[in-house]
Amino acid sequence: MKKFNVKDKVMARWPGSSLWFEGTIVDLNDIEYQVRFTDEGKSEFVVKHRDVKLRTDFHARKRSKSRGRSRSRGRTGRSPGRPSKYYKEPEIVKEEVIQTPTKQLTKQLDSEPFILNTITQTPDVAPRSRVISTDHMTPRTSTPMRQSPRLSTSKDKNDIDGQVNNVKPVTETVVAAPSLGSRMCGLTCRVGSGIKAIIHAFVPAWATIKTVPLIIGMMIMPIILNESCTRKKCTVMEFPSIPRTLQYYYDPLAMGIVGAFLAVQIILYFIPLGRVVKPPNGATARCNGWIAVVLSLASLPLLMYMDYSVLVVYSKYRQLLATSLALMVLTTLVGYIRGAYIPNDAKNPTGNSGLFLPDLFSGREMAPAIKRLDVKFFSFRVTCIAWIMINVIIAVKDLQANPGQYSPTLLMACLLQIFYAADWVWFEETYFTTYEYTRTGYGLFLTLGHASMIFTLPIFTRLILNHRTELEWYYLSLIAIVNLIGYTITRAANSQKHAFRSNPSAPALAHLESLPTSAGTNLLVSGWWGRMRHPNYTGDMLVIISWALLCGFKYALPWVMVALDMFFLVGRTFEVEAACKRKYGASWESYTTRVRYRLIPRVF
Ligand code: NDP
Repeated sequence: MKKFNVKDKVMARWPGSSLWFEGTIVDLNDIEYQVRFTDEGKSEFVVKHRDVKLRTDFHARKRSKSRGRSRSRGRTGRSPGRPSKYYKEPEIVKEEVIQTPTKQLTKQLDSEPFILNTITQTPDVAPRSRVISTDHMTPRTSTPMRQSPRLSTSKDKNDIDGQVNNVKPVTETVVAAPSLGSRMCGLTCRVGSGIKAIIHAFVPAWATIKTVPLIIGMMIMPIILNESCTRKKCTVMEFPSIPRTLQYYYDPLAMGIVGAFLAVQIILYFIPLGRVVKPPNGATARCNGWIAVVLSLASLPLLMYMDYSVLVVYSKYRQLLATSLALMVLTTLVGYIRGAYIPNDAKNPTGNSGLFLPDLFSGREMAPAIKRLDVKFFSFRVTCIAWIMINVIIAVKDLQANPGQYSPTLLMACLLQIFYAADWVWFEETYFTTYEYTRTGYGLFLTLGHASMIFTLPIFTRLILNHRTELEWYYLSLIAIVNLIGYTITRAANSQKHAFRSNPSAPALAHLESLPTSAGTNLLVSGWWGRMRHPNYTGDMLVIISWALLCGFKYALPWVMVALDMFFLVGRTFEVEAACKRKYGASWESYTTRVRYRLIPRVF
C-alpha cells in the first residue's frame, strides 16, 4: 500500500543492506518507490514499500531501544542492551560518514575515472556505522570476480532474477565522478521530467492517450508491412490496399491451424528431456526446444505425405497473422485480469498504475506461469519455431513453383533466418537473463511483438520468393560474412552475459572483469560488455542488414524494415539503460564512464 507521495522525505533501506538513509521519493507505483538518497552521488534506487518509512517513525523506534529497558521474560544470558545476533534494528547512518570517502575518491578519480570504493563492514556484522577501510581506497583494477568469494554463493547459481533474488549484503559500492554526459543528462532529464509533470498535471489521461497509438501501431504495422509486399508489387511509395472488412481476416481454417500448432507445442513443452530451469514464478522450464523444432519440422513431410497442403500457411498468411494478433490480445486480457490476483512479488513494477490501457500494454504480471508452463518463455519459443516453419514453407513453395530451379539467393535467405531462430531455441536458456524476460511484463508490447515477429521477419524471404532477384556467388559470400560476424557478436554477448548472471564465479569467466554494485549483482566491464554497452544489439543489426542485402537495393521495403529495427533497438538502449540506472545507481554511471559507447565503439 502506498504511504508516501512524490517529493516526500523518508528513510529508506539501502538495497541489499540493513542500513537506512534519508531520501526523497521521486517516483512510485503499487509495490515500489524510487528513492533519491542524500549521498553525494544522489543515488537513486527502486525500493520496496516495506523498506520505506517515515523519518519520525524512525526516530521514535530508535529511542525505544534504550539500554535501560527491562529484561524481557524468556530471554536469558544476554544483556538487553546488547544488539541481537539475529535481528538488527534499522539504524540511521549519518550522512557525513558516507561523504568522507566519496570526497576522497573524487580526488583520486582525476587520474582514474573508473574506480571502486569498498565499504568493508557488512551490515550484518555491525550495522551501527559504516567504517571505511583506507586499504580499500586505492583504485582497483583487478578482477573483482576472482577476488570476491561471496559471488560464488549457491544463491547466485541459476538465479535468473538478479533484481529481486540476488540481493546480498552490500560490502562494496562504487563512486565515480559524474561524466559530462551524465551531467548533461542530469539537466535534460530534469527538464524532461518537468515537462512530463506539466503534461500529467494538465492531461491526467496522458498515459492512456499515448498508449492508444502504440497499441494500434503494433497491430496495424505488421499488416501494412505484409500488404506492402505482395506478389503483384512491393513498394513503400503508396499505401497498400488493406481489406477493410473482417471476412478477409477471419478464417476458421487459420484459427484451426493456430490452435493445433499451439496445442502441439504445449505437449512438446512437457517432454521430460533437456536441462531444467526453475524461474522465480514457480514454473518448470525445460530447455528442450530443439526437440520441439525437430518434431515440428518432421511433421511437415508427414502432413504432405498425408495430402495436407502445408502451403495453406502461405495462402492464409493474412488470416494467420490476424488470428495470431487477436489471440495475443485475448491472452493478454486474461493476463490482465489474472494480474489482479497475483502476489506483489509477481507484479510488474511498471504495469500496475491502475490505468487500463497502459497496464494492458505493459503487463501487470512480470512472468506468468500456468502450473509448470512459463508463459513468456513458451511464447518466445513458439515464436521462434513458427518463424522457422514459415521460412521452410516459403522454401518449399519456391521448389514447388519452380521444380528443379531452386534460387540460391532465396535458399540462403531462408537458411539464414532459420539458423538465427534455431540458434535462439538451441540457446533458449539465455532468454531467462534478457531484459525481455526479467523486466518486460506480460503485456501487449511483448505479446504483439512476438506475433508480429513471426509474420514480419519473413517479409525478406517472401520478397525474394515473389520478385526473384538472383545474386552472384561472391555477393552471397560477402553477405554470409556480414551475417556471420553479426551472429557471432550477438551470440557471444548473450551467452557471456547469461553465463555470468547464472554463475559469476565460473572458471570460464575468470578472465573477465566485473564491477560490484550496490544492488548485489555485478556488471561485466570487459569482454563483449566492455567493448560497448549493447553488443548483442550491434550483432543483431548486422544480422538484419545481411537479410536486407539479400533482397538487393531495388526495393525499399527491406531497408525500411532495417531502419525500423534500428530505430527500435536504439530506443531500447535508452529504455534498458534507464532501468539499469534505476537499479544500479552510481555503479551504472561508473560502467558508462568506462564503457562509453552504446552500440558502435567511438561512434555511438
Ligand atoms: P539484453 O540481453 O540486452 O539484456 C539487458 C540486460 O542485461 C540489462 O537489463 C541488465 O540486466 C543486463 N546487463 C546490461 N549490461 C550488463 C553488463 N555490463 N554486465 C552484466 N549484465 C548486464 O536484453 P534484451 O531483451 O533487450 O535483448 C535480448 C536479445 O534479443 C538480444 O540479442 C537482442 O539483440 C534481441 N532483441 C532484438 C530486437 C530486434 O528488434 N531485433 C528487439 C529486442 C531484443 P540485469 O543487470 O538486471 O541482469
